[in-house]
Amino acid sequence: MAAAGKLFSGRFQLLKSLNHHSSAKFSTGRHLCAQKSYELLIVGGGTGGTVIANKFAPKLGSGKVAVIEPSDTHYYQPMWTLVGGGIKTLEDSSRPTKNVLPKQCDWIKQKAASFDPHKCTVTTDNGDEIKYQYLVVAMGIQLNYNKIKGLPEAFDEDPMLTSNYSTDYVTKTYKALNEFQAGNAIFTFPNTPIKCAGAPQKIMYLAEERFRQRGVRDKATVMFNTSLGVIFGVKKYADALLKVIEKRDIKVNYKKNLIEVRPGKKEAVFENLDSTTGLGETQTVQYSFMHITPPMSAPDVLRNSPLVDQSGFVNVNKNTLQHVEFSNVFGIGDCTNVPTSKTAAAISGQCGVLRKNLWEVMQGREPEKEYNGYTSCPLITGYKSCILAEFDFAGNPLETFPINQGVERRSMFHMKKDVMPQMYWKFLLNGYWEGPDIPRKIMHLGLSQ
Ligand SMILES: Cc1cc2nc3c(=O)[nH]c(=O)nc-3n(C[C@H](O)[C@H](O)[C@H](O)COP(=O)(O)OP(=O)(O)OC[C@H]3O[C@@H](n4cnc5c(N)ncnc54)[C@H](O)[C@@H]3O)c2cc1C
Repeated sequence: MAAAGKLFSGRFQLLKSLNHHSSAKFSTGRHLCAQKSYELLIVGGGTGGTVIANKFAPKLGSGKVAVIEPSDTHYYQPMWTLVGGGIKTLEDSSRPTKNVLPKQCDWIKQKAASFDPHKCTVTTDNGDEIKYQYLVVAMGIQLNYNKIKGLPEAFDEDPMLTSNYSTDYVTKTYKALNEFQAGNAIFTFPNTPIKCAGAPQKIMYLAEERFRQRGVRDKATVMFNTSLGVIFGVKKYADALLKVIEKRDIKVNYKKNLIEVRPGKKEAVFENLDSTTGLGETQTVQYSFMHITPPMSAPDVLRNSPLVDQSGFVNVNKNTLQHVEFSNVFGIGDCTNVPTSKTAAAISGQCGVLRKNLWEVMQGREPEKEYNGYTSCPLITGYKSCILAEFDFAGNPLETFPINQGVERRSMFHMKKDVMPQMYWKFLLNGYWEGPDIPRKIMHLGLSQ
């Protein structure tokens, strides 16, 4: 690491001399289309990218930080479960990108098209080459609906097919829950890493309650068809969820992976992933309503770059978030290979580590601060209940409140619905919230955790 530091320090000097901030701006204001060079380039202006921009742009000053982000709208995606459940609207979850990025940073409204970490450049899809001294990759995870035969077209054909994971379909969910009359209501979980591993079942609990409110529950078979062999990765919360599932008469089919949708016949085809019961065999199930969580992967652009490991995700040290090969590159959030559950909460745990470590590297020092894997999943189990799961790399509960969070609570539902969105917009995005480490320590003073 010391040798790498030296190597980097030499390259840093070279890059400093190469760094020229002269550039032709092809549009005014913060919308730039230019050949530029930046001290810090952030690729992706979602949760992770915006947080890091807000931490570094005010500190480094105008013209030193740029964010490559193609979208005009920033979404608070964790709200989409509530949008699907009819509790919030899609508009509630959105803000203009220009309002969440710091005024000191340049917003490059393009897509990153290729990375050359040897030359310290990123090329955008309009052919611009952006140079950087330091790079933070925050590109999120890619939704691959097209890996399921019949999708995405089937979403347009069938109003009872929906998915909270996309702005294209999330607003269909609540309408479909209100139109459902009888039959199988199926909720799927794919055979890939996904963001918010709780979301595929949270909407199921809301749906089940909505069916009861509407008086159609006795005509519904609610089923969770999951590629996994467990309901949730952390035993404490899995045990709690299994109790909910039993109480609510929900059918769980493990190791079932959705591979095809036939909207004309209302059929869903699942492949069996269980080697003990006919691995690879397919089963066709009739659906009346289906919520689909799509297969996901690292973005194609990253998978074709030198920045990733064999899984396709950005190859960083899971504790320091520094790239294992390119010491001036860091990664945050869903696009990295950090082995924790991919959530906005995980970004709250990562952003302080990245802030500290990137700053150390900028000063020619070694990164020291370590991420413990903190992540959280507010497992909504109904219109007034939630189990707030919080845990670390090892799957050990890391609960903020000095109460047992492994039970359904109304207070945690209000945390999710009312408090967390405010924390996101006002504190996390602006760079003021670095996870609940300090509140947890204060609240557990004198207690065991
Ligand atoms: C339905 C649902 C429910 C969820 N529930 C929760 C929850 O309860 N709690 C929780 O903590 N988390 C939850 N999450 C997960 C959370 O939203 C994500 O983990 C988080 O937003 C990840 O942040 P990110 O910065 O890694 O990626 P994102 O926020 O997705 O940002 C990635 C950004 O990269 C940009 N990008 C993509 N390709 C390119 C390119 N080629 N060039 C430049 N930019 C690019 C995208 O436009 C995007 O803005 C949920 C997500 C969903 C969808």
